[in-house]
Amino acid sequence: MNHEIFERDRQDILIIDCIPDNLQILSSFLTEKGYKVRQACNWSMVLTACQTVLPDLILLDIMLPEVDGYEICQRLKNWNLTADIPVIFLSSLDNVFDKVKAFQVGGVDYITKPFHFEEVLVRVENQLALKVARLKILQLNLDLEKKVKERTCQLEKALYKLQQEWNQRQQLQSKLLEIALHDSLTGLPNRVLFLKRLEQALKRIKLKPDYHFAVLFLDCDRFKLVNDSFGHLVGDELLVAIARRLEASLSPFDTLARFGGDEFTILLENIKDIRMATAVAENILQKLSLPFRLSRHEVFINASIGINWGNPNYEKPEYLLRDADIAMYRAKKAFGKARYHVFDPKMHQEVTELLELENDLRKAVERQEFVVYYQPIISLATGTIAGFEALVRWRHPVRGLVAPTSFISIAEETGLITPINTWVLKSACQILYILQNHPAIKDSVTMSVNISPRLFSQPDLIATIDEVIDDTKINPASLELEITESVLMENDENIKTILHELQKRKIKLVMDDFGTGYSSLSYLHSLPLNSLKIDKSFVKYMQKNKQIMGLVPAMIGIAHSMGMSVSAEGVETQQQLMQLKSLNCDFAQGYLFSPAVQQELVLDLLAEGTRW
Ligand code: C2E
Ligand code: MG
Ligand code: MG
Repeated sequence: MNHEIFERDRQDILIIDCIPDNLQILSSFLTEKGYKVRQACNWSMVLTACQTVLPDLILLDIMLPEVDGYEICQRLKNWNLTADIPVIFLSSLDNVFDKVKAFQVGGVDYITKPFHFEEVLVRVENQLALKVARLKILQLNLDLEKKVKERTCQLEKALYKLQQEWNQRQQLQSKLLEIALHDSLTGLPNRVLFLKRLEQALKRIKLKPDYHFAVLFLDCDRFKLVNDSFGHLVGDELLVAIARRLEASLSPFDTLARFGGDEFTILLENIKDIRMATAVAENILQKLSLPFRLSRHEVFINASIGINWGNPNYEKPEYLLRDADIAMYRAKKAFGKARYHVFDPKMHQEVTELLELENDLRKAVERQEFVVYYQPIISLATGTIAGFEALVRWRHPVRGLVAPTSFISIAEETGLITPINTWVLKSACQILYILQNHPAIKDSVTMSVNISPRLFSQPDLIATIDEVIDDTKINPASLELEITESVLMENDENIKTILHELQKRKIKLVMDDFGTGYSSLSYLHSLPLNSLKIDKSFVKYMQKNKQIMGLVPAMIGIAHSMGMSVSAEGVETQQQLMQLKSLNCDFAQGYLFSPAVQQELVLDLLAEGTRW
């Protein structure tokens, strides 16, 4: 790059001409104008001059001996060093062709001899100014290029940084995704990921009929007990240990997920038939039955497993799981704990019906669709009605009168039993009040009301009963509450307290369905019970089965020895009645005497005064 041109104060002009006069005159004129002027009259002098110092401009005559002006110009243009030096032709040739040729060989201007000095000066100045401008542009270009390079470099760096940030973000994102799809405690896939995998399996089975899979829904039995007795930390430790055992029971192709709480789900893929799935379930149950040695405790846990065989008719993975869950509940209920059960579409129907029933039951409570029927209880000593048992029925808008056996257990599960039972108690007490105050009824009549086990966990049971007594103004001495063995067997201090509170109010307590539970006699003795009611199953088989035949008198004997009276329910035949009488049973109830009747008929039954 030719920087000198900006630094040199005097610009250097080389005049090439072979006529000394011309040279002299032009030279002195330009020198006078402030230029440094050198002269040459042939090619070899031009070479020497250029090699010494490169001129800023060349004034070149055409008519030269040996090498003419055109040729010199061409040589200068072909030579790297001199190619950029502007050449102005000076010639007496005024022909257009000469001028054209001069421009063709690289000349930038053409001055015709004889010339005017002023013209020469202007053209020289122009070309020099042009050259400076060109160099400046070149310099600017170079600067620009440099700047572009620097900027490119900066941009590349920024881009690199951006790329790195993006990579980090990408890593973070996949980490977040990983967290979102896994359970933090066990590290297993969670519900979301499991459902995704299940959805894929469902899609695959729709495309490939020879592909099979099964879903297992596992729920730990009584896990709450572990949490309650050892604390949540131990519970967590146990869950992790269970997860590891489950993993060890599966192949790497299966998906094991923690579905939530103590529930785990498994997707078994590439299996041939249901037996492979049940074999896995058996293996799991066997592995889980071994004790878990945790850091501070040894814990035993069982699980129930529901199995559902994947089939392409399912629309959503959730439905597949729902049915595995239904099967799991069946495993829990029907077979006791630590079992598996395979889903059968019939179960779905049952569950739907149950759900409908539950819904209807909710509405029934709101709309008060219940009625109480009353079944007489006969004193075997007098043969007359000693009291009534209040038995609830549901007046279903479509199904008609529904027996309590069809809805009491659901009412208990859903908690709806509390309002229902309280209402029954109140209704029965209203009838009792009428009986207690009726002028035609001389002997006192009792009223028995069944009390659900659920009510005993209600903190305000006693308050509710007090309120009913207050509201209906009955004499509580004629009120009998029937309690099943299961309540009493809880062996809870709280229940004992409640029973004693009831006793204080002179309310009688009857153990219902006696013989169907597992009462310990010594425990029974410690409770303030007034009466035992022998379950109808014993009455039914009393005459047919010798073993049972032996039990009934034993039950009556036990009750009497503990100072309790005995009643028998389900008495349907005269024979049964005779037998119970001969065994000194105190009371009896059954279709032989009367089924449960509507409240309007209670007074009629009493008025009839039948003696059995
Ligand atoms: P439970 O307390 O043992 O009532 C006796 C059941 O035996 C009644 O059935 C009654 O109608 C029936 N029964 C009476 N005589 C005979 C007979 O000669 N043969 C046969 N096979 N059965 C007879 P129900 O009314 O269907 O009640 C069934 C169970 O529902 C009751 O058994 C009781 O546990 C429960 N329950 C009924 N009403 C209420 C209530 O208001 N509250 C609560 N918690 N449970 C109730
Ligand atoms: Mg009863
Ligand atoms: Mg009973």
